[in-house]
Amino acid sequence: MLAAMQFEPALSRSNDPQDEDRVLLFAGNALIIASGTDAQLPSRVALAALVPAETVHVGVLAGHAVETAHIDTATQLPSGWVPEPLRPLYGRLSETEWAVAGRAFQLAEWDRTHRYCGVCGTPTERLTEERARACQECSHRAYPRHSPAVIMRITRGDQVLLGRSSHFPPDMYSTLAGFVDVGESAEAAVRREVREEAGIEITEPQWFGSQSWAFPHSLMLGFTAEWTSGELVPDLAELEDVQWFTRQRLPVLPPPSSIARRLLDAWL
Ligand SMILES: [Zn+2]
Repeated sequence: MLAAMQFEPALSRSNDPQDEDRVLLFAGNALIIASGTDAQLPSRVALAALVPAETVHVGVLAGHAVETAHIDTATQLPSGWVPEPLRPLYGRLSETEWAVAGRAFQLAEWDRTHRYCGVCGTPTERLTEERARACQECSHRAYPRHSPAVIMRITRGDQVLLGRSSHFPPDMYSTLAGFVDVGESAEAAVRREVREEAGIEITEPQWFGSQSWAFPHSLMLGFTAEWTSGELVPDLAELEDVQWFTRQRLPVLPPPSSIARRLLDAWL
């Protein structure tokens, strides 16, 4: 028997639309979901009036096809339904549902923003053999956007390096992170970001693990490294503050949904 919440990604569905399909509709960055504390992914029948003719197939979750699409933010929602940003839904949806919703958001966003060929302006068509939209005029293909970013736990003896961005909740600090430049290795990006944001040098970064992060379309590559030299000089254009923290004196840490927290939990 399959696990209750097993998810299998797929490019296209193998049956006709069903009432019990899961339909993830996004208005801006928010998922349309039933109001209340016990969040569940909506069924097609519940949101029938809102589902556009064209949806993107995401895969199959616990035996139900999962479809996604963007809808206009001005759309009138049926009573009892609300737009909810995805990130705070962690903990209210199951871990698998939350990950599927993140995947759906990225696919819906890609589909919405690649309706026309970036080369010649012709309307594109969705392909069935791979996750791409193609131009029939010039053969250009557009794939879902994916931006690699590095995130790193830097330690110095029994201290860990954490930074604070102005858009974080009060008192929260997190591991440093940044996007990988074109032409740059992930390890070089770790060293550059740490040098730029904190002014210090580190040992060769060691691989930790990765996480897809749908805000908006990152693949987070986690690393660890040790301080080797330099005193902290925060880049105040990027961060409000950067500090060394001991296990005995920690700030508010990022939520458990994030790889930042996994990096820190592995150290604690
Ligand atoms: Zn074209």
